Amino acid sequence: MTASDCLFCKIIAGEIPSQKVLEGDHFYAFHDIDPKAPVHVLVIPKRHTPSVSDTEDPQVFADALAGVRAVAKHLNLEHYRVVVNNGTGAGQTVFHLHFHLIAGRALHWPPG
Ligand code: AMP
Ligand code: ZN
Repeated sequence: MTASDCLFCKIIAGEIPSQKVLEGDHFYAFHDIDPKAPVHVLVIPKRHTPSVSDTEDPQVFADALAGVRAVAKHLNLEHYRVVVNNGTGAGQTVFHLHFHLIAGRALHWPPG
């Protein structure tokens, strides 16, 4: 399923350019256009779903997290953070589920 007005669906389709990192059958990974760390990769399911709250099929999460793991391995990352913003109040701006994979600097806890 794709959403014709969805930015990330257009990136998966190649209609909008992206800096691809890795791709699998069910995920696509690319560099964030406005990186918050030396490594900032977005891992997205190929199947359109707006957010964590909207995703009923757990397979989507499994596929996307397997994608995160594959990207970390691909980039030789041992330490990294995985962030998902759910809803505008939490900072979500693009409504196609995405996992931020952040690394390459000190990651403080708790996050802001
Ligand atoms: P969020 O705020 O959690 O919804 O994350 C959306 C992320 O998408 C932000 O970190 C943006 O910098 C990133 N972003 C927006 N447009 C693009 C784009 N065309 N290519 C790559 N990353 C993008
Ligand atoms: Zn989409």
